[in-house]
Amino acid sequence: MTDKDCIFCKIANGEIPSASVYEDENFRVILDMGPAAKGHALILPKNHFKDLNELDEATAAKVLPLAGRIGAAMKKSLGCAGYNVVQNNGVEAGQTVFHFHVHVIPRYEGGPKMVEWEPGSSTPEGLAETAKSIAQGLN
Ligand code: AMP
Ligand code: ZN
Repeated sequence: MTDKDCIFCKIANGEIPSASVYEDENFRVILDMGPAAKGHALILPKNHFKDLNELDEATAAKVLPLAGRIGAAMKKSLGCAGYNVVQNNGVEAGQTVFHFHVHVIPRYEGGPKMVEWEPGSSTPEGLAETAKSIAQGLN
């Protein structure tokens, strides 16, 4: 279940070397080559899934606990104050590599702001209408 043209398949399965943090039968965790902060890691499943909507349930169930373990290790060993877990789906959402992956980004005291946005405005009616639209999409 790998894609021969996918760079993250090759990295996850050890065909291309990487700065590897962790490996088990399902995942490899590597350091991002363009880190947003020191220690920025990527969790890569060894099987190829394009994005969150293609991910199988068994892999999905394991990925968030692993992100928590990596984040805890970063706090312990790198001394970061916290961390962000980020996962992009689609070009418009910032996805550039189309092999599902989860970013774990250490956040240091006094470090740059990231993964933040200006809160917009809302009305109870507007929120209710939008909530209804999304709920309809679940069917
Ligand atoms: P995304 O924008 O969510 O698709 O994230 C892709 C991430 O992969 C970016 O942060 C890149 O810096 C990182 N990246 C791309 N190619 C490599 C590579 N060969 N080794 C390590 N990180 C990579
Ligand atoms: Zn792949």
